[in-house]
Amino acid sequence: MEHHDTVERSTELLRKALPLMSRQAAALHPVSYAVWYAYVADVNSPLHAALDKHLAEHGLLDEAATEALYRRHLADPGADMAQRVTDGVAGLLDGMQASAAAAGDQTARYGHTLERLSAALAPGEAAPAAPPALGEVLAHTLEMQAALNRLQKQLAESQREIGSLRDEVRRARHESLVDALTTLANRRAFDRRLVSCLAADAAVLGRPPVASPVSLLMIDIDHFKRVNDNYGHAFGDQVLRAVAQVLKALTPEGGLAARVGGEEFALLLPGKPLAQARALAEKLRATVAASRIRRKGCDIDEHITVSLGVAQFLQQATLPGLAVDEAPADFVDRADRALYAAKQAGRDRVVVAA
Ligand code: GH3
Ligand code: MG
Ligand code: MG
Repeated sequence: MEHHDTVERSTELLRKALPLMSRQAAALHPVSYAVWYAYVADVNSPLHAALDKHLAEHGLLDEAATEALYRRHLADPGADMAQRVTDGVAGLLDGMQASAAAAGDQTARYGHTLERLSAALAPGEAAPAAPPALGEVLAHTLEMQAALNRLQKQLAESQREIGSLRDEVRRARHESLVDALTTLANRRAFDRRLVSCLAADAAVLGRPPVASPVSLLMIDIDHFKRVNDNYGHAFGDQVLRAVAQVLKALTPEGGLAARVGGEEFALLLPGKPLAQARALAEKLRATVAASRIRRKGCDIDEHITVSLGVAQFLQQATLPGLAVDEAPADFVDRADRALYAAKQAGRDRVVVAA
């Protein structure tokens, strides 16, 4: 969250947030204010999209939804880190301002000295005043130079610090969205992309709906517990990385491959209708089934296979008979149920959601 808006800007944001906030079912508490402040400031686009989506679907924001939006978009580690960075930058800027102010004071004194000097040299005044005044000018000029030097050093130091803080925030953001074992997107990144992708697709206030399908694959490794039990956890990890590699290699442009659970993956496919998603699922299944994963130089007996569930987002734009767009959670749920059906039907197969 951005806490360093000027008084004018935050007053303007307050004016915008209050009427929106008071229209909701949730009480006017700090969590609610944080959500609406971020919404009107538009410093957090996924939150903006998620809130728009919720309003479009439910009309109002209640306590639970407010709390959920806060937890997901404002209270996460990435946001905390961004907060610390903005704090750091603000502190640095304060330091720079203090230095600039000191330099300003020195300059002002220099000006006064010059005034006195010119008065002393003015015709009609007592002439011998000039040499001491010139000495003073010299002394103050040196002071001013020293102050400006200090300012320049401090600015250079500030720039270095801002640079390293930026790197830190980039790293923290990256880490908060990536699965360390497979380097695929993690669950958080997937949830965010899902919501923003569906919100962008949904009919948002005043904008005509865009007829662009979105499909989803849920993928789960078959009998993975057995792999761990037979060959050890380290080999299990190697299998996870290998499946992730296949997934990455087959992810089309604009798609998002994520590890959403222990041995569970998801592939979000914006712009892909069900038929294409199903074909891709089948290709993924076949590629994993055909690959041999080596363990300490020798092939293992077990074939690694995956089961997949496929669903296409039910939206008015692509299915005109529909009364409302499907909720994102229901979309994931349908793909999950198709995956479950694939397991029930014997694994190593693709099932398309009803
Ligand atoms: P199914 O075909 O029904 O999916 O059976 P399964 O054995 O794959 O499913 P189950 O949910 O019973 O077991 C999942 C296993 O995945 C159990 C857990 O120890 C393992 N697992 C979860 N995360 C990791 C991980 O990061 N590394 C390793 N090596 N194993 C993991
Ligand atoms: Mg499994
Ligand atoms: Mg599983």
